[in-house]
Amino acid sequence: MSDKIIIEARVNELALRDENPNVPFLPAEIIRDAKACYDEGASIAHYHGRKADGAPEHDAEFYLETNAGIRAECPILLHPTLGYVANDADARERFSAVEEMMKEASTAPDFAPMDVGSVNVDWWNPEEGKFDTTDLIYKNSTATLMYFADRIKHFGLKQYLVSWNVSFTRQIEAFMKMGVIPEPAYVLFCLTDGIMLAGHPGTPEGLDAHTTFLPKDREIVWTVSNYKGNLLLLTEKIVKAGGHISIGLGDYPYAEYGAPTNAEIIAKVVEQARALGREPATVEETREILKMGKVNIAA
Ligand code: ZN
Repeated sequence: MSDKIIIEARVNELALRDENPNVPFLPAEIIRDAKACYDEGASIAHYHGRKADGAPEHDAEFYLETNAGIRAECPILLHPTLGYVANDADARERFSAVEEMMKEASTAPDFAPMDVGSVNVDWWNPEEGKFDTTDLIYKNSTATLMYFADRIKHFGLKQYLVSWNVSFTRQIEAFMKMGVIPEPAYVLFCLTDGIMLAGHPGTPEGLDAHTTFLPKDREIVWTVSNYKGNLLLLTEKIVKAGGHISIGLGDYPYAEYGAPTNAEIIAKVVEQARALGREPATVEETREILKMGKVNIAA
């Protein structure tokens, strides 16, 4: 366990502004938020391209502009999306925005994600007891994942592995045996609550089920998010267990805390971690913990 804690700001995902108006959509808004989160102690920024009305935006131009803008402001590590269910294309197409980003150092990210399995991600409506969607599958075939791993290695990026449930972790272990995933592996346990049933619930038991099944003989650094649930209810447990924290308005509006900004949420986590004896990892310390190398610009 590292005593420094890696804090990632998950600034927007596909969240709308109905419960918290501070969700950033456009490049200038994301750049401003990433810098503010960095100033509070976050060392990784994760974001999704969005249009002015909040709809998903997959144009590579969006990512180039946003990455370059953040790079110009601060050294926070960049972790863009491959599009989640909003980009249900083949492996090459899903990775194409990263290929564009890798053409210049100023736009290159530090991580590329691999969600190591597939899940139904329909929106459950707990009030009405029905599903609001019935055909959303977040599909990541083994062949697609191996393609991503190959391109990530080619560019010298760090794999950002996402585990939605224990079967994903088992596939991570298999990929480690095959050499597809190098050590240390950086794994996000994506807990889910509310309208999303695809992950383990955002409870101590939901998290324990994940950590129980981590392969003991492998070097794995783990972090936790709670998609559509309040991660602050679990952060003390995560800090004490030696885990890392990935949090932000993308996952949950935190309206019960007075509609905070992303930076205010990061500040809350930093204060709690410090009180429990763990300082936030700087960008350089995060790179050391995850043994990140130099990226290869395509040129
Ligand atoms: Zn995301």
